[in-house]
Amino acid sequence: LYRSRSAFKLIELDQKYGGFLSKSDVSAIVDLGAAPGGWSQVAARKLGFNALEEDAQDGFSTLRRANDKIIIAVDLLRMDPIPGVEIIQANMLSLRTAGVIKSLLTGPGNPEGKADIILSDMAANMTGNKIADSESSLDICNAVFTFAKGHLRTAESVGRRRAGVLVLKHFAHPLMNEFRKEHLDSTFTDVMYVKPDSSRASSSEGYWVCMGWKGLQGAEGA
Ligand code: SAM
Repeated sequence: LYRSRSAFKLIELDQKYGGFLSKSDVSAIVDLGAAPGGWSQVAARKLGFNALEEDAQDGFSTLRRANDKIIIAVDLLRMDPIPGVEIIQANMLSLRTAGVIKSLLTGPGNPEGKADIILSDMAANMTGNKIADSESSLDICNAVFTFAKGHLRTAESVGRRRAGVLVLKHFAHPLMNEFRKEHLDSTFTDVMYVKPDSSRASSSEGYWVCMGWKGLQGAEGA
């Protein structure tokens, strides 16, 4: 059913935190580092793209228009199509990619091109060198946060306290806690650390589920 074991991690996080993927005000989800596509499949089901993949081969855009919701999946790697999901093959560490995503998000119902939820399960290829690997995880977290600053819809504009969600995978790093304090704790209403049951115990990976995006007013002097 799902293309990755990771899909079960997202299902677990969603269940644990109130079914944030299927709140009625959620209409745009961006999935960063999405290949092979398990998280996007979960997101598509939650947004009501339940059609069998075979049924949809004649055009995902029809499906998308039908319920006015959009999921954008980005990865360096090629991905097979998923109904309801717009796939972009690109590097998230490049600023240009953010512009491409913005233009896909922007439409009559979404003039600012914002996403309600940003998911990042991104991880660089593990080199086996623990220092290099955790360093790249910090780079990825910084890039995702920069992206969130430009693309996440605020809780205030939705009128729901926990709206504006970022799910961010990270690996252990001496500066991770500082990253969290400096960027996440000040800009979201709630930040939870989770190690999903479906995540291997031997892996140092964990997820932050950040809810209630406040934007940058005051927090970062912007
Ligand atoms: N959540 C996915 C799923 O359920 O199928 C699995 C994601 S996998 C753990 C991490 C992905 O991040 C890889 O496919 C990798 O290519 C992607 N990735 C790593 N660095 C990236 C970057 N700079 N830009 C885009 N994708 C990247």
